Amino acid sequence: MTERRTAVVTGGGSGIGRAISLRLAEDGFATAVLDLNEEAAESVAAEARQKGHEATAFKVDVSDRAAVEAGLDQVRSTYGPILVLVNNAGITGFKEFMKITDAVWDRIVAVNLSGPFYCTQAAVPDMIEAGWGRIVNISSSSAQSGQQYMVHYVSTKAGLVGFTKSLALELGPKGITVNTIPPGFVDTPMLRASEERGLLGGTVDHHADLTPVRRPGRPEDIANAASFLISEEAGYITGQVIGVNGGRNT
Ligand code: NAP
Repeated sequence: MTERRTAVVTGGGSGIGRAISLRLAEDGFATAVLDLNEEAAESVAAEARQKGHEATAFKVDVSDRAAVEAGLDQVRSTYGPILVLVNNAGITGFKEFMKITDAVWDRIVAVNLSGPFYCTQAAVPDMIEAGWGRIVNISSSSAQSGQQYMVHYVSTKAGLVGFTKSLALELGPKGITVNTIPPGFVDTPMLRASEERGLLGGTVDHHADLTPVRRPGRPEDIANAASFLISEEAGYITGQVIGVNGGRNT
């Protein structure tokens, strides 16, 4: 493994991606915080730097292959080969099945599924060259349970599970692990926006009461699992779906 370890976190400017970026920076990775929202990514990178860690923000739309390739080239020239990739950027959607338009379908697929495809193809050559790598894909517990009015979203997140399992088989012999964390009910701006729009079928507190551990997830819960999967100790774990959901889905 090379001396300097560079990690890329997509959607790193908010919620779960923010917590993973801060944690990987704390774990000693030079961390590239990628986000569509440049200001948010810069604020996360600045927070990590204030704590004495290495982090830089990059504005990248993961649904745009050319932008992903250019962004990851910039990361490489800043920090060196990319050995850790967390595909976290995602958008949500609630619509009755028959009201999902082609445009809505295409956008959610572009961000949630094509984004990880483009980012992973852009990063994997560095990992193969190093003979070591870690890829963590943030899917969703809704891919385990199904979710009403979210056929488009859940299809992308279930796709990410298949992506993970298949890629793990291909990259295992090259020293690269690929795993997915399907979070459930994590208190982030995405979840609160859904609550405000009345799309959760109850408040966050109501759902917390129905959760076996009796609280909503914290972004740090997902970051803890990601940190472990990225560690040396997790080298025998690949192709796995590691649920972090307070017991809501097993
Ligand atoms: P969030 O707070 O909305 O953060 C997502 C971040 O990704 C935002 O900064 C967003 O930027 C960015 N982003 C969106 N589209 C992008 C694109 N095309 N390219 C680059 N960045 C983009 O969401 P979150 O709750 O932390 O969710 C993170 C991931 O966890 C998502 O994949 C989500 O599906 C998954 N997840 C979350 C939960 C939950 O309970 N929160 C449950 C299951 C799965 P903008 O703000 O500019 O859009």
